Amino acid sequence: MKICMVGAGYVGLVSAACLAEVGNEVICVDKDESRITRLCEGVVPIYEPDLERLVQRNLRSGRLRFTTDLKEAVRRSLIVILAVGTPASPDGSSDLSHVDAVVAEIGGLLEEYRILVMKSTVPVGTHARIITALRSRTSVPFDYVANPEFLKEGGAVEDFMRPDRVIIGTTSPRARDVMAELYAPFMRKSNRVLFMDPMSAEMTKYAANAMLATRISFMNEIAYLCEKVGADVEHVRRGLGSDPRIGSAFLFPGVGFGGSCFPKDITSLIHTGRSHGLAMDLVRAVWRVNEAARERFAERIREYFAGRESDVTLAVWGLAFKAGTDDIRESPALYCVRRFLDWGMRVKAYDPEAGQAALTALNRQIRLCANACEALDDSDALVVLTDWQEFRTPDFESIRSRLKRPVIFDGRNLYDPGRARQAGLEYHCVGRPSRPNNECE
Ligand code: NAD
Repeated sequence: MKICMVGAGYVGLVSAACLAEVGNEVICVDKDESRITRLCEGVVPIYEPDLERLVQRNLRSGRLRFTTDLKEAVRRSLIVILAVGTPASPDGSSDLSHVDAVVAEIGGLLEEYRILVMKSTVPVGTHARIITALRSRTSVPFDYVANPEFLKEGGAVEDFMRPDRVIIGTTSPRARDVMAELYAPFMRKSNRVLFMDPMSAEMTKYAANAMLATRISFMNEIAYLCEKVGADVEHVRRGLGSDPRIGSAFLFPGVGFGGSCFPKDITSLIHTGRSHGLAMDLVRAVWRVNEAARERFAERIREYFAGRESDVTLAVWGLAFKAGTDDIRESPALYCVRRFLDWGMRVKAYDPEAGQAALTALNRQIRLCANACEALDDSDALVVLTDWQEFRTPDFESIRSRLKRPVIFDGRNLYDPGRARQAGLEYHCVGRPSRPNNECE
């Protein structure tokens, strides 16, 4: 099939490479010229496991091409997929300016029937607005498909190649058949394509992200109560997650959620609810608990060093919003680092992939380290903010001997408090007693 992918970011680039991998001819368009120049040379501008290999192989085969020329890409393709950004506006609603700009351009370019597929996350009801906008610009027939994307950064290629489900929202039988064919190569074990109307497809995306965010905020609230009563949230999490009706995913307490999706999708959902007269009480509470989670964690560190902030250097492990990505958008780690800097603390930080992006975002106010050990040297405490695999089994002896004070603040609950304590470290995490409840004094 001939496909035009508009947007070469996390979603567009992964989707384009995976669609090319299964034999389609894909032209990926982006307005960012330097990004396209680098991609044409096989240089992938984002970190995503396995993506570079996939992009380079499909570039070599000629099935994947990159351009800034939308006109040519639309002319050659039956399917035009939009994967441009939909960030939050200052009032919390979705900023659809990128989507609107592409739709306006496409409206002036159509020469024959095309299927417009919306992979960007857009508020419920956007399909009707876009169809009207396109109809006002062209008399050429087209179909519209709401096809929200569910891949997660850090495992995006795997998710696209083996999706849990694919949501297709369209009223057109013709578009439905083409989309079924497009996704058939990813459905060889079982068919996980769900067809529905565009309104429900748009809503499914927001409902899924709100549910996942709710689980995280819920677990954070339970963790705070654990701290008050002396329970261990790690036991509670396991006990809770073993119920098959609940399941164990997205029940990790810590510094809260961030990233390019959950925060903006939550505020957008609240905005949509309000515009229909609904208070969205539960989703607003999820948001409030999340804002408090990162502040509470940062504040705990400030309290520990109260009065001595300007003498303190913190070793920070992790800047990305989660493990497996270089994405720092709305990263709780960056939020905490900004707070530390506000309070006059110095920060030596290490992240396997997100260091340079964070350094720029923080106006070079931190010292970026080449590895995790270097960050520890001459620091007053270790602060763990991203759950990268390489932080999970540290050499506690080395941490203790390198730090000026043997103290860890773990915002991801990565370590066993007993092990840390045995190594002579003071260990602070979220929702766990520093001493096991069944341990004799
Ligand atoms: P991104 O910011 O990484 O990429 C967007 C790309 O679109 C950029 O490269 C930008 O230059 C390009 N672009 C913007 N306007 C353009 C135009 N007029 N013409 C051509 N290119 C244009 O964004 P992303 O993270 O890939 O997200 C894209 C959409 O997918 C968003 O709506 C997001 O909510 C949704 N989504 C993201 C994820 C994720 O994990 N990142 C997961 C599911 C859904």
